[in-house]
Amino acid sequence: MSVNTLPSPELREAARLRIGVLASQGDFAAHAAMLASLGATAVEVRTSEELRDLDGLVIPGGESTTIAKAIERDGLESAIRAHAASGRPILGTCAGMIICDREHLGLVDAVARRNAFGRQIASFEVELEVSGLGPDPMRAVFIRAPWIADYGDEVEVLASHDGHPVVVRQDRTVLSAFHPELTDDSRLHALLMALATSQRTSDVGPRTTSHKS
Ligand code: GLN
Repeated sequence: MSVNTLPSPELREAARLRIGVLASQGDFAAHAAMLASLGATAVEVRTSEELRDLDGLVIPGGESTTIAKAIERDGLESAIRAHAASGRPILGTCAGMIICDREHLGLVDAVARRNAFGRQIASFEVELEVSGLGPDPMRAVFIRAPWIADYGDEVEVLASHDGHPVVVRQDRTVLSAFHPELTDDSRLHALLMALATSQRTSDVGPRTTSHKS
């Protein structure tokens, strides 16, 4: 009788969440490091092929016009749409919030206003309580951040600053105007991973250990 009850490395690898980070531009490396620290496999995504078979996706901050152009240039739009349509979660931060709004990919029924806090206010930090993440506030780092200027009934506001929504959620897409990857508070990334786990367990059929096709 074996006393070794640990799952095999192959089973462990198959159980590990694979979370993509759109790496066209922006601060994707800090997101990848945070996801890895939570036990996910972080996958840098630059092609539609790399978007297949992911459990979740982060669209990071950066410059939304540059990211939008890269998505078009690299033909990523339909793969991101397919990812969202299959119920897999997305975390869009700052420019990533803009990319997911009604005027871009339309994954969330909301309009993000670019540089909404004013261009001159390059960056500021506040303590922000985020609904669903417990009573302790997050240290929210805003860098030429957007806010949500308009949103539909399906959108849930999880946090506001100065009366403007800055964290919202629709289904399994969560958008944050600030940069959670720049602090050591990983609760929004943990939320993404929890949503990915709930989607994975609701998927039918076993997953294979190989992600090659
Ligand atoms: N101001 C940038 C934009 O509008 C977003 C800034 C950021 O992602 N930190 O695209």
